[in-house]
Amino acid sequence: MRYWSFLAGKLGVAGGCMYGLLALLNYLWPSEPDFFYLRPPRFGYDLLYTLAAGVWFLLCCGAVYVCILDQRYRCRVCLRRLRMPVETGSWSRMLLLGRPRIEYICPYGHGTLNVAELQISGLENPEWTPHAELWEELCAASRDSERE
Ligand SMILES: [Zn+2]
Repeated sequence: MRYWSFLAGKLGVAGGCMYGLLALLNYLWPSEPDFFYLRPPRFGYDLLYTLAAGVWFLLCCGAVYVCILDQRYRCRVCLRRLRMPVETGSWSRMLLLGRPRIEYICPYGHGTLNVAELQISGLENPEWTPHAELWEELCAASRDSERE
């Protein structure tokens, strides 16, 4: 729930900034002169204004893309950026090691994210694996190896 509300908050802030940019564009752009007490719309008739509105639309698409891309690489529990990318797998030893993937980890050990390196059949969703006590498991493994 917290994960999705953070995404909604980011999209809301981006939408507010983009709406402010559109309001600034409409405020700064000179309005068309009246034509028999009728003011023609700028969009679709004024080429430069239409071009500026097109650039604003592309900026909106970029802002939404950046919000979703940033959210994809965040921890599902604590919302921190995932770190320590490790490449796993190999194309030449695919049967032994699996397909090449990049594995990210939460610095507080809440889970790992496996992202396929090559997405053959379209855009695949990255696989999130939650861990309860990842660092304790790793420390226990190193303690076991020290005893031997
Ligand atoms: Zn976390």
